[in-house]
Amino acid sequence: MSRADEIATNLTAVRRRIADACETARRSPDEVALTVVTKFFPASDVRILADLGVTDVGENRHQEASDKAAECADLGLRWHFIGGLQSNKAVAVATYADVVESVDRTKLVSGLQRGAHERSHHVEVLLQVSLDPSGAEQRSGVDPADLSALASAVEQAGALRLRGLMAVAPLGEGPDSAFARLAEIRAAFVAVHPSATELSAGMSGDLEAAIRHGATRVRVGSAVLGPRPVVQ
Ligand SMILES: *Cc1c(COP(=O)(O)O)cnc(C)c1O
Repeated sequence: MSRADEIATNLTAVRRRIADACETARRSPDEVALTVVTKFFPASDVRILADLGVTDVGENRHQEASDKAAECADLGLRWHFIGGLQSNKAVAVATYADVVESVDRTKLVSGLQRGAHERSHHVEVLLQVSLDPSGAEQRSGVDPADLSALASAVEQAGALRLRGLMAVAPLGEGPDSAFARLAEIRAAFVAVHPSATELSAGMSGDLEAAIRHGATRVRVGSAVLGPRPVVQ
């Protein structure tokens, strides 16, 4: 099977999973968008995805994302930055990312604002909220208690657009209970920020649970592109 056939087959299966999960959750399939996570995979795979109608791709490391976005600039894709972001890279990320989903501290805001401004382009922002137990060693994402301060900082940055929340289910907890907690956090958040309704949650292994709990975008890598090379 050619690489294009393999990706096409996997993509069809993932789209079917999303449609089935929407049906089970009594949601319209139009409510759930797909970002294909292309980290570790070559630009040639991104081209195949674009040919298959994928519009949104996700990357988690700045250098790789920057190179791939430049190589694929002709494809008109929306680039989502979904990885841990160092503040000294924020300006650069905002020059190619259309959406930054991993904003987890106010320190990132001025750099993103500057990069977006330089490019004369609004950058959409999702706040990554931590679902780890409070006091956990390595939290990825903002503590839910600090969400509103972070949201205010983003709203004050004229080149950024606050669109919603992003989360990853923590290891060591079933996705259902983690995403149920996320749904509560999100309901409280949307009550205060009524236009920030997006919820990016769910990956290859847990997209059904995320859709059950209100995800509007799933981020799927390996189920479409296959296993990633192992890195240490
Ligand atoms: C890698 C990654 C994904 C995709 O994971 P898969 O299990 O391959 O679908 C989704 N979200 C984030 C934040 C990631 O880093």
